[in-house]
Amino acid sequence: MIMQRELTHPNALYIHIPFCIKRCSYCDFNSSVYQPDVASRYVAALEKELGGVKDHPYKTVYIGGGTPTAMKEGQLNQLLSAVSSSLDMRRIKEYTVEVNPGTVNARKAALLRWGGVNRISLGIQSFKEKGLRLLGRIHSRRDALDAFSVLREGGFNNLSVDLIFGWSGQTLMDWEEDLTEVLSLDPEHLSAYCLTVERGTPLARQIRTGSVPRPDEESQLDMLKKTINFLDNNGYKHYEISNFAKKGYRCRHNVNYWKNLPYVGIGAGAVSYLNGRRTSNIRDILSYIERIEAGRSAKTFGERLTPRRRAAETLMMALRMTSGIKEKNFTVRTGFTLRELYGDVIDRLCVLGLMGIRQGRLYLTRKGVFVADSVMMEFL
Ligand code: SF4
Repeated sequence: MIMQRELTHPNALYIHIPFCIKRCSYCDFNSSVYQPDVASRYVAALEKELGGVKDHPYKTVYIGGGTPTAMKEGQLNQLLSAVSSSLDMRRIKEYTVEVNPGTVNARKAALLRWGGVNRISLGIQSFKEKGLRLLGRIHSRRDALDAFSVLREGGFNNLSVDLIFGWSGQTLMDWEEDLTEVLSLDPEHLSAYCLTVERGTPLARQIRTGSVPRPDEESQLDMLKKTINFLDNNGYKHYEISNFAKKGYRCRHNVNYWKNLPYVGIGAGAVSYLNGRRTSNIRDILSYIERIEAGRSAKTFGERLTPRRRAAETLMMALRMTSGIKEKNFTVRTGFTLRELYGDVIDRLCVLGLMGIRQGRLYLTRKGVFVADSVMMEFL
């Protein structure tokens, strides 16, 4: 049973580091090329913002980006120290940092361990040199393998690897080889994302001008099917559309998002969801720093979600998880019954074989997962 306290007390803290060594061609995240002096001011601003949100009962911390490990050791150290001295670390069950190959060595790995980090999300994306080139990554396959072993040898026993499939020119065989190679590393968790071509990115321009072919949707679907079967058969439970974990290694931080429970985000462009209100910080890095330095709030957007909107979001987020949502829990979280809001839609999607109900739980079937985006639209 979900307690009311869970709805008002954020368990998850996200810290955004908007710096990378170089921008990847497909990326539309809020990040820019690392500049040491800007990063120093940014970390100081983060420390200040953290001071205002440190008293919540967090159970997970996630430092993402960007590439947190693009920063110099001194800056990383300052950030990690700020986190561990501000929060009650005894409560923190999962503390993740995103790392990209080419930005981590034994000293940085040791620093992360020292700072209390117990989980790493490593952005390998592909082991194929042609894929890495097309995606504009800074690293080679060798760098990715080295980064993984440095982290393992550094004492991390909860490693997650990100891979991307469905890029132009990738064959099903290429993807199978990437999956086989990642399994040989034996990570505890895997995220496999289908490439989406975001507007305004260099990749979108390359496709528009014809220098790169458009990714083929049918092969992307084949790759998704392959991924689910392959990883399921190799001990990784498919627990969210793009996420797979060995037993006991689901990402608690992200599960908090998928349950539509409150969270706090700090840093440029970071979003928070608290007491039914969604707010976000200014996206521009220098404007963020200047606001915080001047003692002003970094928030530039806020909206209170209507109960109906919150209910729709709760359902759509929950359906991302293969376990779906218990009808009873939906009611506790939103005050509505599934039937009163979506009875007809659910019946129709069940008849189409896209959704199912088992022991009071509504979930997407395998067929539904393959067209998840269209299914979700039905609830808006
Ligand atoms: S490393 Fe990640 S955040 Fe940075 S540019 Fe590449 S995809 Fe974007």
